[in-house]
Amino acid sequence: MLKIEHIGIAVKNLENSNDLFKTLFGKSHYKIEEVASENVNTSFFQIGDSKIELLEATDPASPIAKFIEKRGEGMHHIAFEVDDIEAEMERLEKEGFRLLNKKPKRGADNKLVCFLHPKSANGVLVELCQEIKEEE
Ligand code: ZN
Repeated sequence: MLKIEHIGIAVKNLENSNDLFKTLFGKSHYKIEEVASENVNTSFFQIGDSKIELLEATDPASPIAKFIEKRGEGMHHIAFEVDDIEAEMERLEKEGFRLLNKKPKRGADNKLVCFLHPKSANGVLVELCQEIKEEE
């Protein structure tokens, strides 16, 4: 793994939280993006080499809505950047980690992503992400 790419934080209201984190960080988010497949709206803040991703559910069936219902707002996942997501997924599965998706899927911010089940990682929801390189 290369670095912590971002930390995901589940919020109830993206607009309010964008204001709150703008005050905290002293700068605004640089993008808002809907990820329809996950039923979430996201916003991103750049903090040095890492990012903070705020996640708001767009639907009561969204995993974020369920998370907030159970545990309230707060830290949701840690995302690590990898060079080769398929190779990392294969390696980690062999090591006994449970993958939540068997194939990399398209996440926010131009990434291929895969999540590891928190039960297999000491309660931490881990996201692997790899930048999508557009090729002709
Ligand atoms: Zn994320």
